[in-house]
Amino acid sequence: MKDTFKHKGLRQKLVAVLKAKGITNNDVLDAIGKIPRHLFMDSSFLDHAYQDKAFPIAADQTISQPYTVAFQTELMQVKRGDKVLEIGTGSGYQTAVLCELGAKVYSIERQHELFKLTSRFLPKIGYRAKKLIFGDGYKGLVEEAPFDSIIVTAGAPFVPKPLLAQLKIDGRLVIPVGDNVQTMTLFVRKGQTEFEKTEFGEFRFVPLLEDKN
Ligand code: SAH
Repeated sequence: MKDTFKHKGLRQKLVAVLKAKGITNNDVLDAIGKIPRHLFMDSSFLDHAYQDKAFPIAADQTISQPYTVAFQTELMQVKRGDKVLEIGTGSGYQTAVLCELGAKVYSIERQHELFKLTSRFLPKIGYRAKKLIFGDGYKGLVEEAPFDSIIVTAGAPFVPKPLLAQLKIDGRLVIPVGDNVQTMTLFVRKGQTEFEKTEFGEFRFVPLLEDKN
């Protein structure tokens, strides 16, 4: 579990790649420049950790592509102290980005194996989410609502109503919507029942699943 000069150098190159692809938020770029992504991956993929690609993690899931992580995080417009909800903890990489930005992070994972692995791993490298939850992200986390922003890191066949309902006014939901290919979608809550919807490009995620194993 080492972070070397070589890793740091590769990370700075990755940050340059993300900038070239259009990511402009310096806090997001700094977070990606700091977090040792290679430690979130299976050892067999270590050489690939700083390529702008998604890779397999445990339980047939993936660690999202850095560009996707940066793009979604930028859309959340996280401010220090924000209360944020993540659906799909997975490797915990996105969780770590949100922690770096100073957010109070609640993150839900439905696969017990990943939940256990990531719950042990994140504090080991110094990232403390407010709470990691084993459960179903379709329901959100009503007992901690409302949130400044919510990010869904799996492909959602539809927009779960509880997630919209758990946003503060001016709160932001960033969610990839679609079956095989997903459209990145931003909802900003304008009032009790009003939401402003903006669609961005197409992305590919593992599916948001409804039933637990
Ligand atoms: N944010 C993660 C991405 C992991 S991939 C990272 O940075 O590594 C998406 C994750 O969503 C997977 O771990 C998958 O198990 C989880 N997932 C799928 N359906 C879910 C649901 N209904 N509730 C919570 N998590 C879910």
